[in-house]
Amino acid sequence: MTVGAALDCPLCLGPAYLTARVPYSMTLSHGGTAHGHRTVVLCPGCDRGTSSAAGLLAFFAVRERIDHTNFREAAPLVQEWVQRCAEVTYSGVDLDGEVEEWAAGLMD
Ligand SMILES: [Zn+2]
Repeated sequence: MTVGAALDCPLCLGPAYLTARVPYSMTLSHGGTAHGHRTVVLCPGCDRGTSSAAGLLAFFAVRERIDHTNFREAAPLVQEWVQRCAEVTYSGVDLDGEVEEWAAGLMD
């Protein structure tokens, strides 16, 4: 996992506080599991009300950045946020169903 400088939020295009590359796994339709990485973004607008982001958003509400003076305070908050982001898994089954419906429509 890496935590990096903020990009713009891909949802609202506003400035994000933080980005992180986290590992994730995806269940494939034949039962296998694919592992990869995805980038998650901490956005003060879109993540408001998200429990996993609450601690970090509160941190950034009073501090501009994570530096050597507040790193020990920020580290567990970053860890909590990233861990919850990484727990989200995606299933390929729903997508397969949509593809089948689309293909069946073509054959009508
Ligand atoms: Zn946003």
